[in-house]
Amino acid sequence: MSNDVPTITLNDGHEIPQLGFGSYKVDNDTAEKVVGLALQAGYRHIDTAGFYGNEEGVGRAIAASGIPREEIFVTTKLWNDRHGDPDAALAESLEKLGLDYVDLYLIHWPCPAQDLYLKVWDRFIAAREAGLVRSIGVSNFLPEHLDNLLRHSPVPPVVDQLELHPAYQRRDDVAFCRDHEIAVEAWGPLGQGKYPILQDPTVTGIAEAHGVGAGQVIIRWHLQHGRILFPKSSNPERIRANLDVFGFELTDEEMAAVDALDRGLEGRVGRDPNEMEP
Ligand code: NAD
Repeated sequence: MSNDVPTITLNDGHEIPQLGFGSYKVDNDTAEKVVGLALQAGYRHIDTAGFYGNEEGVGRAIAASGIPREEIFVTTKLWNDRHGDPDAALAESLEKLGLDYVDLYLIHWPCPAQDLYLKVWDRFIAAREAGLVRSIGVSNFLPEHLDNLLRHSPVPPVVDQLELHPAYQRRDDVAFCRDHEIAVEAWGPLGQGKYPILQDPTVTGIAEAHGVGAGQVIIRWHLQHGRILFPKSSNPERIRANLDVFGFELTDEEMAAVDALDRGLEGRVGRDPNEMEP
């Protein structure tokens, strides 16, 4: 089934669907069910991680969908306690997913105190050369970590997956990525339900004007800023609604109104990347 989701060309030439489906905090059985629903609804980009403990369920849903492997973009991530043996961790992820390769493999957090992410990156390059992963990238890397990586290696990450939503817009970090042709993926794009963005009167007002939901407004705002995102839901109606965002467009004024909701660090719901350790 085709859908309206545009693709973004990464700095290594591969294409990624700009809108996908997230799978954080769902166990294997739930992942099998909701990823199956997402694929039926038309999503062709699934984000998982070794840490989520649901790669088997995600793999079962992909296998059961009957959709050709090459039509689905699959991302998984290396967890913090596996920086010492990334090859084995990737082999385990592929085994659980039941796949020969993933489209995108990410270092989940830099864990600077372990000081292993540069070594991990060299193994990621080897995995790419071996055909086990198509593209390699990072997550939760601040400019200082990216700068280290770019000085260390001629191969830049294709993406940095960062917490990013209207209350936490981190414009400097995004500008650093843009200047280095690293695409930005927004995690927690709806604020993870922890930050009341979906009840914000600016957002609900825009939603009413377009006859759509507040979640759809935020998703549209990310898309129009050129970011990649994969909101997560276990609710079949929301799974469908979150993909149904190509029939309306936010005006420049509406984009500016959501831009104005930034709360800086106060809006962050996740951890400080410099403090996150295994
Ligand atoms: P999210 O911002 O996607 O929010 C999910 C929450 O919003 C859920 O509780 C869901 O019930 C609710 N929701 C979803 N659609 C809605 C709608 N239309 N209306 C109202 N509520 C709605 O947060 P997330 O799941 O943390 O982030 C998305 C994905 O990003 C994850 O599933 C995961 O794949 C990835 N992620 C990555 C990291 C990382 O460190 N790299 C961290 C967290 C999440």
